[in-house]
Amino acid sequence: MAEFDLVIRNGMVIDGTRVPRYRADIGIKDGLVADLGRLAAHRGRREIDAGGCIVAPGFVDLHTHYDAQLFWDPYCTLSGWHGITSAVIGNCGFGFAPVRPAERERAMLSMTRVEAIPYAAMKAGMPWDWTTFPEFLDRVERTPKAINLLPYVPIGPLLVWVMGLAAATAGNLPSPAEHAEICRIFEESLDAGGCGWPSASCPAAQRPSNWTTTARRW
Ligand SMILES: [Zn+2]
Repeated sequence: MAEFDLVIRNGMVIDGTRVPRYRADIGIKDGLVADLGRLAAHRGRREIDAGGCIVAPGFVDLHTHYDAQLFWDPYCTLSGWHGITSAVIGNCGFGFAPVRPAERERAMLSMTRVEAIPYAAMKAGMPWDWTTFPEFLDRVERTPKAINLLPYVPIGPLLVWVMGLAAATAGNLPSPAEHAEICRIFEESLDAGGCGWPSASCPAAQRPSNWTTTARRW
């Protein structure tokens, strides 16, 4: 009888604890590593021969812009190819919720301008059947995915939602009432599954528009 749900055999294990790599079998039960070592006498309901392969824990990518690509690429290529099993989205304050229908074009153009995500791909691949952040998360939830996603609540769309496009892009500070509304929506978004609050941490987002490629100084 199988003791494990899955046994990964004969892989070269790099476990992330800074010990040298070693060859081992890994027994997995109920979604957790239950044993590690030579498991020749043990069986799994499913077995994978990992000979010639590296076996390592999944990596977390803390800064991505897969907010659109996740809808047509479940592996979030290239991250999925490189061993990423969890990716944060919504970095740098950019994202697609909350966004009213009238602001969708602007949101996609911003993502193209600042993060170099091709507009044509977003136009063709975004289902856009949400407006609020919780509705966006519901859509992400229903979308087939090969990796885990940790969604920030992006500040850019939230400022536009509450203050309007002109005031938000002019750099105005929110009024006390607007600030309270931003906080209310932020709390609501965290309750729905948002993992935090990003601002413009990306060098590209801070670059004055008159800088050229050769003048980059970060
Ligand atoms: Zn970024």
